[in-house]
Amino acid sequence: MRTTTVVIGAGHAGLAMSHCLTARSIDHVILERGEVANSWKTERWDSLRLLTPNWQSRLPGFGYQGNDPDGFRNMPQTIRFIEDYAASFSAPVHPHTNVTSVQSQNGGYRVATDRGTWDARTVVMATGYCNVPAVPALAAALPASIRTLSSKDYRNPGQIEPGGVLVVGASASGTQIAEELQRAGRQVTIAVGEHIRAPRTYRGRDIKWWMDAAGVLNDRYDEIDDIARARNVPSLQLAGSDDRRTIDLNRLTSLGVRMVGRLAGVANGKLQFSGSLRNLCEMSDLKMNRLLERIDEWATANGMDREVDPPHRFEPTQVEASPPLELSLEKSGIKTVLWAAGFRPDYSWLEVPVLDRKGRIRHDAGVVAAPGMYLLGLPFLRKRKSTLIDGAADDARDLAAHLAQYLA
Ligand SMILES: Cc1cc2nc3c(=O)[nH]c(=O)nc-3n(C[C@H](O)[C@H](O)[C@H](O)COP(=O)(O)OP(=O)(O)OC[C@H]3O[C@@H](n4cnc5c(N)ncnc54)[C@H](O)[C@@H]3O)c2cc1C
Repeated sequence: MRTTTVVIGAGHAGLAMSHCLTARSIDHVILERGEVANSWKTERWDSLRLLTPNWQSRLPGFGYQGNDPDGFRNMPQTIRFIEDYAASFSAPVHPHTNVTSVQSQNGGYRVATDRGTWDARTVVMATGYCNVPAVPALAAALPASIRTLSSKDYRNPGQIEPGGVLVVGASASGTQIAEELQRAGRQVTIAVGEHIRAPRTYRGRDIKWWMDAAGVLNDRYDEIDDIARARNVPSLQLAGSDDRRTIDLNRLTSLGVRMVGRLAGVANGKLQFSGSLRNLCEMSDLKMNRLLERIDEWATANGMDREVDPPHRFEPTQVEASPPLELSLEKSGIKTVLWAAGFRPDYSWLEVPVLDRKGRIRHDAGVVAAPGMYLLGLPFLRKRKSTLIDGAADDARDLAAHLAQYLA
């Protein structure tokens, strides 16, 4: 089979690209191993709601239509939104078509799937960045009696065996799951590495509203001092809920969650934690305050100060004087370890030599180091918002323009 462009992945990013290609009359197909919105259908927990407000899902040619722009979608609503998007322009999705290899061939690409082979001049990889949970090597040293699972496998508290739970990672997923398990009556310990604290609301407005308005989410990859570092920054500690509550570490400890440093080792039935907890929390508070300063400056410069509440700062993260550096698995009652320490993409099917030593794709803001090959949906690909649903529109438009020029 032959087409001009193969898009791999029918999440919102692949669909956004498809919309842009359709607008340019570029013949293409979307190959999807599952169904439209597969990640949202198969890899998310039951209670998850988007942490971005409803209005903040602006895809090319599509946006929020309802009467609750400031609410937060649950999973069925998120899935329906993405399915409706695909239907709105009859996206050429081939579901249940797993891409098993992509090879260079005759100045283009040969894309092999479990349902036949496609030849195309150009390929867009929109397979997501959350394919493989980051599980540290030390996991192998955990005793067999400890159950482990990742945030991708987690569904609800009922799935977790009785006993305490160690949640590893304190970004959006880790803090949300820790809160849910603690409220369900589990004793949760959270191992805290680098994290970014953020209030749900500030000066009477949602933090995402401020970040959008002040241009924070539009920061470009070529305006940032250290883009390699920016691409590794974890997700904000945020959750979407009707009461718009903040779920920072102070909230978790007030619920009874025990806070420890980064999980650094497992030996002789003991979990070992790094002594960096206080520093990491101070750093996180500092970064939050820098964000709030940028927001305040923007508010003043744009004459907003009289429209919104006055600037203020939040109580620093409370860390106990000597957080434990070790916990005995037996004495602490921890029976389950839940990994929420991030993800990496899976390119095991990619046979074009574009991977670096660390298995990352070599690319310049989504233009891959192989002619006619493109990438979408990675952290800070072109803008700070690149991994958000709201970030796909700008990236897809820019890369579709590049692709069209390449074809011409
Ligand atoms: C827990 C969690 C919460 C999030 N919350 C928000 C939020 O509130 N707001 C927000 O804007 N963003 C959020 N995100 C970020 C982001 O929107 C999602 O990660 C989103 O799913 C990424 O979209 P995507 O289209 O790039 O990738 P995906 O949605 O993952 O789509 C990739 C598609 O590619 C398919 N695929 C992969 N490999 C192959 C293959 N070999 N062959 C064929 N098909 C393949 C997959 O099945 C999948 O359907 C969240 C992410 C996570 C993990």
